[in-house]
Amino acid sequence: MSRYLDSVCKLCRREGEKLFLKGRRCNGPKCSFERRSYPPGDHGQKPPGRVRRGDFRRQLRAKQKAKRTYGIFEKQFRNYYFKAARQTGIAGENLISLLERRLDNVVYRLGFATSRNQARQLVKHNHFTVNGKRVNIPSYTVQIGDVIMPRERSRNLATIQEALAYTQQRGAPEWLDIDPDKVEGRVQGAPVVEQIATDLETQLIIELYSR
Ligand code: SF4
Repeated sequence: MSRYLDSVCKLCRREGEKLFLKGRRCNGPKCSFERRSYPPGDHGQKPPGRVRRGDFRRQLRAKQKAKRTYGIFEKQFRNYYFKAARQTGIAGENLISLLERRLDNVVYRLGFATSRNQARQLVKHNHFTVNGKRVNIPSYTVQIGDVIMPRERSRNLATIQEALAYTQQRGAPEWLDIDPDKVEGRVQGAPVVEQIATDLETQLIIELYSR
């Protein structure tokens, strides 16, 4: 399975905004985007020549931003699009719902991890259960009623405890419920786009793939 091995901060600089891919560091003075808010590479600091404003460019950037926010590669992201397009309802909303219901994203949203990258690693390392069963597939799609919690032996893991303390003020979106005493989260509804703090332009993504 392929992995992105370069600096994730370059992705923020490429998109021209903070994507919050590194957890705690993103809100501190060490954030690369705060220090170098220009695109990476030899030509990053050069003044832009011809300003490009085509539809394709906007659609491509919207898609790349979504992919990078959720840490997904092209093939898998395209498969999500096909799945979303086949479902009833608005394809853009279906797409966000599928991305949000990934187990790594849910672990992140519940505050068990400070970033999706960290959540993915925790899931892969067998630290989480869904309805009492160990699941180590970051792309696993959770369903309404599912209970997500760290395994008994992983509850006191410093990474999880620190993340819970750090993300306490952030809270979970309305479709998720976290019980801090039991250290468990529950999916209590379907993700609703308006409830999700995201400014992804799903319509542009759908237009790109519909070309
Ligand atoms: Fe992006 Fe976070 Fe890196 Fe800042 S620290 S550039 S927000 S990944």
